[in-house]
Amino acid sequence: MVKFARCNALLSLALDASGKGCRYVAKAETEDAVVKDMSEHLQGVHKVDSGDMKLNILGVTKTTRS
Ligand SMILES: [Zn+2]
Repeated sequence: MVKFARCNALLSLALDASGKGCRYVAKAETEDAVVKDMSEHLQGVHKVDSGDMKLNILGVTKTTRS
């Protein structure tokens, strides 16, 4: 089982570093790890302060069978 969250689900107009729609997907085995991964992505790529984003990230985190 893998948990994942899509950047586009959080930031509907997010653009990646090359100006295209962001397709980043944070994947991990735990929700905390997904939140950490996505928080770093949001801050690093989109300059978004992820301090208030944890609940948002959890809200778009889904679980799949690998
Ligand atoms: Zn992104």
